[in-house]
Amino acid sequence: MSVDLLRQIAHYEKLSRQLDPDHEQRSAWGQMGLEHVLGFLQNLKGNKMFWLGPDQAKKVLDYEPPDEGIELEEVLQLIHEELDEKGLKASSGGHMAYIPGGGLFPSGLGDLIAAICNYYSGAFYVAPGAVRIENILIRWVAEMIGYDPKSCQGNLSSGGSYAGLIAMHTARESLNISSRDIPQTVIYLSQQTHHALEKALKVIGMKEAVYRRVPMDADFRMIPAELDKLIQADLAAGLTPAILIGSMGTTDVGAVDPLDALAEISEKYGLWFHVDAAYGGFFMLLDEFKQKYPGLARTDSMVIDPHKGLFMPWGTGMVVVREGKKLLNTFASDAAYLQDLIEDDVEYSPSDLSPELTRHFRGLRVWMPLQLFGVSSFKAALREKLLLTQYAFHRFQQMDGIELPLQPQLTVILFRNFSPDSDNNAFNQKLIKGILEDGRVFISSTKINEKIYLRLTILHFRTHLEEVRLFFDLLETQRQKLLRPKNVD
Ligand SMILES: *Cc1c(COP(=O)(O)O)cnc(C)c1O
Repeated sequence: MSVDLLRQIAHYEKLSRQLDPDHEQRSAWGQMGLEHVLGFLQNLKGNKMFWLGPDQAKKVLDYEPPDEGIELEEVLQLIHEELDEKGLKASSGGHMAYIPGGGLFPSGLGDLIAAICNYYSGAFYVAPGAVRIENILIRWVAEMIGYDPKSCQGNLSSGGSYAGLIAMHTARESLNISSRDIPQTVIYLSQQTHHALEKALKVIGMKEAVYRRVPMDADFRMIPAELDKLIQADLAAGLTPAILIGSMGTTDVGAVDPLDALAEISEKYGLWFHVDAAYGGFFMLLDEFKQKYPGLARTDSMVIDPHKGLFMPWGTGMVVVREGKKLLNTFASDAAYLQDLIEDDVEYSPSDLSPELTRHFRGLRVWMPLQLFGVSSFKAALREKLLLTQYAFHRFQQMDGIELPLQPQLTVILFRNFSPDSDNNAFNQKLIKGILEDGRVFISSTKINEKIYLRLTILHFRTHLEEVRLFFDLLETQRQKLLRPKNVD
């Protein structure tokens, strides 16, 4: 062994050991990181949480990966300046736009542990604990919606879009739709269906299929009789009705399709019935939703977003397929070995149930908060959001000049203010602009039949009565500003 080789190894070892700081350094960094987070949280309540501005975090551009490392203090300072106070603070209870997310504290602990211990979670035989944690979460959701937890399979994905992609590909494989069949294949959805599903169908090569928008009632729900008519006409024309996509809580207005009636029709014509419950799914934790929507149990696949209705951090979606074998047949790379695995105590691996092999261990960030808080806390929070929605709807009803186009089915309220000079769109654009400039609450808007409506969505775990009242204060202030003739001084 040459002395030179050993000398070189020693030289590089010294350098490479910098990647593995000692206990003292780890403690110091850990403290600083934790302090950053705690300081952030202490500052959240009632403060500005949305910044519209010309400065789009340009300072970040000065921080390409440097050759030599810099101090953690500087890194945290940059994060504070450029991430905390530019754009949207999605962890604030003032977030009432789109579909708000969450960011539960124990999820962060779960992520810290998952990342630093770097548990592998792709395959059961090397990761029995991690895979069991994810699979019991999937079975828990399955039970909630009424699937048989023994025969379904699912996957924790990065979000609802990816989960939808897995569901659509499973549908295609299970229905045996070859590329030649696509131009005759019909997909039924509505004007309210989330665009993520069309994107998913495009990704799996089904752009050339026939897309039918099922007419909706005044509350933006698919009309089953219209769906039936469309299917009849397609059959008569020699086409192949294949996939029906329903929604439990559309993103735009929070509409829930008549799931039972849609299940009936899917069964009648042998369609693959998928329900997008990314937003609304976790309301099924509450008994009255279970009673109201038994049709969810009759779907072939469903998507639900723990990073919405379960208040988890972004990056947590889930797909569940009722007949789990269909998901396995679609994604397992070695179907033969599956034959040997139909034992009770064996768990299927995420790598056989999704396109991913090595992946983030997402289970811990979902499982830890459920363990620490218990399911009852989540039910209470969802109940509170529904009650706050009632409260807000009632307040709107008491105001003059407000149009409410539909009753909230979940926790989205659409509204607009009639303008004194009849340009309602311009008036409501000014209204939302004023609210966003204040920045303590964040709401969004949508367009329905060329009319601009403002949207209030109450789903964040930090949105309580105080935040909803603050929204109404800001709305009232803006309205008065716009309605009162300009003072001449
Ligand atoms: C959010 C949402 C999606 C997309 O899910 P991501 O988690 O954002 O990828 C799909 N459908 C509905 C109804 C949604 O609310």
